[in-house]
Amino acid sequence: MWNDKRYHTLDYELKKTFGQKVIKLSLDGGFTCPNRDGSVGERGCIFCGEQGSGDFAGCSTLPILEQIAQQKEFLSAKWPRGKHLAYFQNFTNTYAKVDRLDQLYSEALQVEDMVGLAIATRPDCLPLEVLELLEEYARKTYLWVELGLQTTNPISAEFIRRGYDLECFATAVACLQERNIPVVVHLIFGLPGESAEDMLNSVRFIAKLGVWGVKLHLLHILKDTDLYEHYLTNPFPTLTQEEYVGLVCDALEILPPEVVIHRLTGDGNKKFLVAPRWSLDKLRVLSSIDQELRARDSWQGK
Ligand code: SF4
Repeated sequence: MWNDKRYHTLDYELKKTFGQKVIKLSLDGGFTCPNRDGSVGERGCIFCGEQGSGDFAGCSTLPILEQIAQQKEFLSAKWPRGKHLAYFQNFTNTYAKVDRLDQLYSEALQVEDMVGLAIATRPDCLPLEVLELLEEYARKTYLWVELGLQTTNPISAEFIRRGYDLECFATAVACLQERNIPVVVHLIFGLPGESAEDMLNSVRFIAKLGVWGVKLHLLHILKDTDLYEHYLTNPFPTLTQEEYVGLVCDALEILPPEVVIHRLTGDGNKKFLVAPRWSLDKLRVLSSIDQELRARDSWQGK
């Protein structure tokens, strides 16, 4: 339905828009996060590692143009041809003065073959001047903004130390949508204490918001995180591959067909991933999702 897939992949969407492969380059703009610097919290979200959820991004000590060159070189073996998109991934990529943001974003866009920007941030880091800057960029380039909701369950939100409530998130989505800025939402499956119904309620919530894209993640327990410390003293069951695949297929059936699926599996850093280790075989997880959708004779939005 979307080429060879039963769900609306980002790859399909980008090829449809640009007529060729678009490769995302993960960048580190040297930002921090209010959930780490003491403004909202000091230790960050419980699952967040030292890289601020951007284990594969460029190195923050390098200028953006050098990071871009490095990332292109690194990814050229896998994708020798294609356009590029600058993905500001690590920490909170709108958490700085507007001039600094403008400088970083525009620097990335100067690069030949750079077709747009993806900016990951928090809903509580979108003051009016930042929204106006993003609106300007949305007018002149291909842009989306990513927000990490993870769950709609308030008990889980407190457990993960997210640091903002659902109202803050919904307001941010509305402010971005008013300015025609596409929004991508991250959700995590497998948070301790959450039932399948809790996870699917989060999916139902974002399905109704009219967001442009979704990233589904499996909860990873990584060694350099507070979640790992918690897991050692309070072990909890992590999802099996079968459970995860079933949940992802349920979620895809709930999400409207126009929602772009940016991700269905996480990229856990092999060195740090404690559980679930089965997730390291990403290809197997993805093909199990395809198989399950076929077995159900189902597809996104069904
Ligand atoms: S908001 Fe993002 S960068 Fe900040 S602590 Fe949470 S996961 Fe890490």
